[in-house]
Formats: sequence, C-alpha cells, structure tokens
Amino acid sequence: MHAPHPARYDVSATGLPYRHVGKSGLKLPAISLGLWQNFGHSTRYADQRDIVLSAFDRGVTHFDLANNYGPPQGSAESSFGSLLATDLAAYRDELVISTKAGYYMWPGPYGEGGSKKYLRASLDQSLQRLGVDYVDIFYSHRFDPSTPIEETLDALKYALESGKALYAGISSYSAQRTTQALQHAERIGLPLLIHQPSYSMLNRWIEESAEDEESLLAVCERNGLGVIGFSPLAQGLLTEKYLQGTAPAHSRAAANGSFKQEYLSAENIQALQGLKEIAESRGQSLPQLAISWALRNSVVSSVVIGARTRAQLHENLDAARQLTFSSDELARIDAVCIDGGLNLWASRSSDL
Ligand code: NAP
Repeated sequence: MHAPHPARYDVSATGLPYRHVGKSGLKLPAISLGLWQNFGHSTRYADQRDIVLSAFDRGVTHFDLANNYGPPQGSAESSFGSLLATDLAAYRDELVISTKAGYYMWPGPYGEGGSKKYLRASLDQSLQRLGVDYVDIFYSHRFDPSTPIEETLDALKYALESGKALYAGISSYSAQRTTQALQHAERIGLPLLIHQPSYSMLNRWIEESAEDEESLLAVCERNGLGVIGFSPLAQGLLTEKYLQGTAPAHSRAAANGSFKQEYLSAENIQALQGLKEIAESRGQSLPQLAISWALRNSVVSSVVIGARTRAQLHENLDAARQLTFSSDELARIDAVCIDGGLNLWASRSSDL
C-alpha cells in the first residue's frame, strides 16, 4: 500500500488548484494525468507506478483513460487496475477515473463507433480491467456519423442509470455536434458534464468559429459544460527537445507513431523558438508556458497531460504555480502562434 504525501491537498505546497467542471459540483485538478501513451504493457510497470504515485502525491486526483489505451489496447486500464488493487486500494474515493469508448476495440460490427451495443459492452470490459464497480466519467470518445447521436447519448444515460458511471462526457465533438448532443441530453434528462477536445498553443480550433456560429469553447461556456483540453503540449512538440528541428532518441517523434514528422516544419520550429523566449521572460520553461496558457481561461477546467518520466511530470505540474498572464504577454503569444497542423483528431471534430 502506498503512503501518499500528507500535504498532497495543500495547494500552497503543491501549487495545484482544483476547478469546478462547468456548472457541476465536481472539481478536477487544473492538471490531470492521461495514460494514452507510456502506460501500456510495453512500458515497465515500475515506471508507470512511479509516475502515477508521484502525481497522486502532488495532488493529481484525476486519471484519464480509454478502452484502447496501451499498447496493447486495454493494457493501460489493466495496469491502472493493478495500482488500484494494491498501492491505491484505500484511495478510490479520492480519485476521479475516466474512461472512453469510440475507437476500434474489437473485431466485428460491435467493437467501434457510437452504438449502444458497443458503448455498453465496452464500459463493462473497462470496469473489469480496472477492477472497479464504476468509473467517475464515461465518454463517447468521438462522434460517430453512422450512429444517430441520440443513440450514443442514450447509451451514456444508461451508463449513469446503471451506476456504472457517475458523469458523462463527449470528446472531440464539433461545436455543432456538441449543440445537438446538449439538446438531446436535455430532452432525455442526461446531465452532460464535460467535453474533452484537443487544445494547445499551436492547435486552437476550439476558439475558432465560422461566421454566425459559436466556437466550441463558447458553446461549452454558455451551457455550463466543463472543458478539459488534451495534449496541451501538442504531444511534446511544445517542449524544448525539438527547438533544433530534429527528433531526439526516445522522443515521441522518434517513435514514428501518433507524432507525425510534418509537425517538425520550419514554421512550427520558428514558433517554438519565439514561444521559448516568452517563456524565459516569465521564468518558465516552454512546456510550463504551454500548460499555463491552456489554463488561462477558467472555462477550461483542467488540461490532461502525458508524461514519460517523473522529471517531465514535475516540470509540468509546476506550470500550475503561474496561471496568470498580462495582456502584453498574451499579445506576444498570439503574434507568434500559428496553426501548426497538429489536430490529428480534426476529422472527428468536423461536421460529417
Ligand atoms: P501532451 O502533454 O501534449 O504530450 C505528452 C508527451 O510530451 C509526453 O509523453 C512526452 O513525450 C512529452 N513531454 C511531456 N512533458 C515533457 C517535458 N516537460 N519535457 C519534454 N517532453 C515532455 O499529451 P498527450 O500524451 O499527447 O495526451 C495527454 C492525454 O490526453 C492522453 O494521455 C489522454 O489521456 C488524453 N488524450 C485524449 C484523446 C481523445 O481523443 N480524447 C486523444 C489524445 C490524448 P516524449 O518524452 O516521449 O517525447
């Protein structure tokens, strides 16, 4: 059993505040830890354990998972389940555990998408891997154009009514799809808690709006829906390792997976160099600037980061110590930021 740090909820010591999620009563740490990469069976369990427990010791109460996180798919939930059964067994009530279903999980017509058949079975499988009776947040991981949005929302309602999830969320839905989801949710009495979109200094799609339409951020704010931005470091691009335009060994870029080589474009590297100067003028590192910036607006309840090492985790959590920006700093950042072509999830967010 882990003996967690006694000062883990002392915000003056950890620097990590808790924010209400939209208009709900639930609070999340401003920085949450995601287990998409670095927490599958291909990573040493001891390293995963070290990062998760270090995060908990610093007040991180929210751990973000999905059915398919690994590799292999499902293994991040199994690893986290092992921690819940051992080190964290006494602390379930101090944790917010999120999971999702939407991407490919198993063969055949029922292992992917937004149908009730898939979401219900996937949630049961997630609970089994995690070894818990309920998750705190269950998400539709992406909008599925081949399933009526009403059916997906009905599946989320079932998750809540069956006691298998406490809160429901959607991820990467466009502003228009989010509006539709909110309308149906209201009709069926489903309280939607949270939206999880990608968001970083070089990927600001949630702030943008077509003429006569609201941005996703505005839709969420107006409806009291919390926002938790994922990949605030643009998968590690917004760190200091890529400033020379090359991919160091052991970086995500070198792994040739979800980090595309085109992200290391001359324009993006130039933006990183400009942002690094602004970070220095604030006494922050580049990743700290990126995380603080994503949290500058209180509509964003939390950001969900990834960390491959304990040092990365601590550096990133220290970003929460400095969340305010002067208007001059924001203007300098806007002048440097470009759309870096980093929204890997864009096709999921379009109005298909
Ligand atoms: P991220 O925070 O943008 O990137 C994390 C990666 O950046 C790390 O794994 C590490 O990679 C590098 N890094 C982190 N801190 C660093 C530092 N201080 N210095 C240098 N490098 C650093 O987040 P992400 O991992 O892409 O995503 C975070 C979470 O968001 C996921 O775990 C998941 O929970 C969630 N997510 C959700 C969706 C969705 O569809 N809803 C999609 C994607 C992610 P290397 O060291 O290996 O380079």
